[in-house]
Amino acid sequence: MRSTKSEILILGGGVIGLSCALLLLRAGRGVTLLDKGVVGHGSSRGNCGTITPSHLPLHAPGTVGKALKWMLKRDAPFYVKPTLDPELLGWMLNFARRCNEDDFRRTAHVKTELLLRSRERLGALIRDELLDCEFVDSGTLYVWRTEQALARAHRDYAMLREVGVPVELLDGAALRAKEPALKDGMAGGHWHSGDARLRPDRYMAELARAVRAAGGTILEQTTMQGFHRNGDRLTGVITAQGEINADEVVLALGAWSPQLGKQLGLHLPIQPGKGYSITYSRPQRGTRIPLVLQERSVCVTAWDSGYRLGSTMEFSGYDTTLNQRRLDALKRGAAEYLEEPEGPSVEEQWYGWRPMTYDDLPIIGRAPDVSNLTLATGHGMLGVSLSAITAQLVMESLTGRTPSLDPAPYRPERFMR
Ligand SMILES: Cc1cc2nc3c(=O)[nH]c(=O)nc-3n(C[C@H](O)[C@H](O)[C@H](O)COP(=O)(O)OP(=O)(O)OC[C@H]3O[C@@H](n4cnc5c(N)ncnc54)[C@H](O)[C@@H]3O)c2cc1C
Repeated sequence: MRSTKSEILILGGGVIGLSCALLLLRAGRGVTLLDKGVVGHGSSRGNCGTITPSHLPLHAPGTVGKALKWMLKRDAPFYVKPTLDPELLGWMLNFARRCNEDDFRRTAHVKTELLLRSRERLGALIRDELLDCEFVDSGTLYVWRTEQALARAHRDYAMLREVGVPVELLDGAALRAKEPALKDGMAGGHWHSGDARLRPDRYMAELARAVRAAGGTILEQTTMQGFHRNGDRLTGVITAQGEINADEVVLALGAWSPQLGKQLGLHLPIQPGKGYSITYSRPQRGTRIPLVLQERSVCVTAWDSGYRLGSTMEFSGYDTTLNQRRLDALKRGAAEYLEEPEGPSVEEQWYGWRPMTYDDLPIIGRAPDVSNLTLATGHGMLGVSLSAITAQLVMESLTGRTPSLDPAPYRPERFMR
């Protein structure tokens, strides 16, 4: 069996692995990154590409009731496949326990700080590295069709102001003036001027280009199968192509992380939260600003090069089928809000697995009991948005620098048992 050596080995070439690789290279470290497929082809490819400090934690009070109602509708944006899987049931229970005012507020404060820092750094990274990915300081608009639903969203509005995220309340007329692609008669919306967007597949390609140009090695079609361990240290990572030795290993395997973590005795409570997207060529009356169509939970993003409807959250394990009913629900949802909800031609229908933790915070930091393993995973619905600060924290930890912010809330220890 062939054996190679690297200073730092990164497992997984999604937005998290590639961002960590780039920052570590810029800090003067030698980096090899491996992926079982082509880099940037996991959850990081067909997502909606919005960078959203405006996104509040999922476990708001009332979420469980809303989710139960949605589960009775066949094409609702949320679905849990009936199961006796103890991992998924335990995950759901832990999530439900956090759907209360105190946990929501605490998580909102912690997570928003991370999102705001990441937003700032992501813009700087893209500009400094000249990453050509249709990045625009676009803001986002959250749109409500009905007065009742808009009124219920007042709690989110108040929370965003409390945590320092810019938000402005717009009535129906102001909303339409801002985004003329919307139909008449919307109740109103929230304008988040601090949000942004990029085209994720281009961002992935550009990150990979920058990593290679900075001297990093990317090994594609290289599946990690296991580890060699000596006491508390990893001594090698086993792949079908041979063994790779490294001084430090970073695990950035997205939704696949728990499967490989298990081999190291790590309990990572991550479930794949399946989402879908449809990418089109640009409609004539396409949107200018990324939208979240709230009652239907559909995200709409337009770039010069295309147009995407995305979202839905399905807990059905590692299911690889494209569910046409969910894809159709995206189109029907968009049609309730937009004059021209679809583009002239479909370029791709896609699904991805979001790496969901039940406390809706990522897992970033040294693994307990394995002295040379760092975890960078569990980014849920916000991996693109959180990628820059995650890479910064990983780089700082591996180069002995002072962390940019207190890493305690994201440490893996919070889940270990
Ligand atoms: C529909 C949808 C819309 C979304 N919209 C947004 C959005 O607007 N903004 C936002 O911030 N986030 C969004 N997200 C979430 C975001 O896509 C994820 O949080 C992010 O992509 C996770 O990145 P990652 O690098 O952790 O995982 P991934 O991108 O999934 O990368 C993990 C990599 O690990 C590799 N791998 C797995 N197993 C092995 C193995 N054994 N050996 C080697 N390699 C392996 C995989 O091939 C993959 O490339 C969305 C997600 C979905 C599904």
